[in-house]
Amino acid sequence: MTFAVHGLPVARGIAIGRAVLVVSSRIDVAHYFIKPPEIESEIERVRTARNAVSEELTKLQASVALMGPNDAPHELVALLEVHQMLLQDEALTSGVKHWITERLYNAEWALTTQLEVIARQFDEMEDEYLRERKADLEQVVERMLHRMKGTAAVLAPTPPRRKRPAEAEDDDLTVNDTIDVPLVLIAHDLSPADMLQFKKSVFAGFVTDVGGRTSHTAIVARSMDIPAVVGARTASQLVRQDDWVIIDGDAGVVIVDPSPIILAEYGFKQRQGDLERGRLARLRHKPAVTLDGQRVDLLANIEMPEDTANAVKAGAVGVGLFRSEFLFMGRESQRQTRLPDEEEQYQAYKRAVEGMQGMPVTIRTIDIGADKPLDSKASKQEHLNPALGLRAIRWSLADPAMFLTQLRAILRAASHGEIHLLIPMLAHATEIRQTLSLIDFARAELDNKGMVYGKVKLGAMIEIPAAALTLKLFLKHFDFLSIGTNDLIQYTLAIDRADEAVAHLYDPAHPAVLKLVADTIAECRRQGKGVSVCGEMAGDVTFTRLLLGLGLRSFSMHPSQILAVKQEVLRADAGKLEAWAQGVLEADDPATALTLKP
Ligand code: PEP
Ligand code: MG
Repeated sequence: MTFAVHGLPVARGIAIGRAVLVVSSRIDVAHYFIKPPEIESEIERVRTARNAVSEELTKLQASVALMGPNDAPHELVALLEVHQMLLQDEALTSGVKHWITERLYNAEWALTTQLEVIARQFDEMEDEYLRERKADLEQVVERMLHRMKGTAAVLAPTPPRRKRPAEAEDDDLTVNDTIDVPLVLIAHDLSPADMLQFKKSVFAGFVTDVGGRTSHTAIVARSMDIPAVVGARTASQLVRQDDWVIIDGDAGVVIVDPSPIILAEYGFKQRQGDLERGRLARLRHKPAVTLDGQRVDLLANIEMPEDTANAVKAGAVGVGLFRSEFLFMGRESQRQTRLPDEEEQYQAYKRAVEGMQGMPVTIRTIDIGADKPLDSKASKQEHLNPALGLRAIRWSLADPAMFLTQLRAILRAASHGEIHLLIPMLAHATEIRQTLSLIDFARAELDNKGMVYGKVKLGAMIEIPAAALTLKLFLKHFDFLSIGTNDLIQYTLAIDRADEAVAHLYDPAHPAVLKLVADTIAECRRQGKGVSVCGEMAGDVTFTRLLLGLGLRSFSMHPSQILAVKQEVLRADAGKLEAWAQGVLEADDPATALTLKP
């Protein structure tokens, strides 16, 4: 039966594929694809874990048998028997084998996937006693997952082959075929670190129950340039493994089990989208200059040094935001040291500089906290209000040794090319002073060690209203400013950017937000300082003309958005947009004013 689930559009386009449900388990489970020759050893890992748990349960049963009836209640004996039974259950064993063999999931992923499949069957049972056995099955699987810890051979996701989207009428695919049909990822929640794992993977689209449009999970999804919907609330409960799913990333709709007519319609839309991309690709080598001759820098936002390849391919003239925190995230599940050391960071920044082939690279110092925990399982509940807590520069200043390590690595990489050093989340004069003196200290440390380093331009992010209201202080100390509209909107409107429940109030066109953006651009221009926007607003074509009219000449965005923004730039007359942009700022309803012609 066809049905639709509505969420928030995150990344454009249409994806059609089989659902891969990533189930959250209480244990941190890695999700990656194995290679076909590894199938047997992966199945063996499950078998070994199952035997070990079985032995564990047998021992427990034996020790219970030695106890008297007062110490070992009858229920405990029965429970252990049930656990043994569930452990040996054919549905579990054969299901896990199926996901490993046919989908090339790693053992843990296969196990949690099959757990979800069986758990849903339990949920549908009428008998209450049987329904409650779901909790027992979860316990058994968790025992197995514990046993499997540390036994994985491969930790990096290795994508299997990927084919173009399947034909719409091909609904009777055998499971063996499914490895070659597009897969779409459905999850309740994914941390930015999880997303990064999937970035190297094969998914044609993705959906999460939670999240806002500018949550970091959504940002990484956007950087993957695949259709995505977040905030789809119950999607992960309604969609089953292997269901056919259409993701409409433009409308924020997920269509499950579509009829042939709907499939055909979306197949058509998908092809139209491909054609449009083809047309835009012709602009790649065209300089971004307005009709009245104003040059506009279109820069790339990246998460990893390897992303520079896409940035160059898209025609970026530099990196406007390297979110360096992604080098620090998700390392525990990769069995790496908790934080990357100076050498590892230096190599990463150097790779980014080299990847940009002489163009400037803006490296933002670590912005951990809020919806970007270091590890995917690091609880958001650890702090009452993480977005207002120890995040970004506050985190760095609270751990000067860690911060100095990063600063030294960045300064050293600057000897290989043009680096701009960008500091996130500054609000206080004391933070500015401490940051600048730590940068000086890092230079002095490198001098003492006789190490080579380069000059950097210093920039601050304007993403807290307090910063936007004290620009003179910032401009006294920094060479350039970069407006982080994602956070500026969040903190101006008091709307959690990652919370789908208030996503309708997260409004980039709110007059207060536009005023702060406009004032920042104007003040920088007055003082002859560089200014750019690196939040999602910069890549949203709805705002291109407005930002140009406000005087912005530097936009930083996901590489996938550069060509569409360039098209807007090429069609714009920046001079004529000035008066119109002032009108938008003064309008009662700027969102509507934005849609009116200048
Ligand atoms: C922003 O806040 O706009 C920004 C670019 O930084 P991030 O999205 O990483 O918080
Ligand atoms: Mg930010």
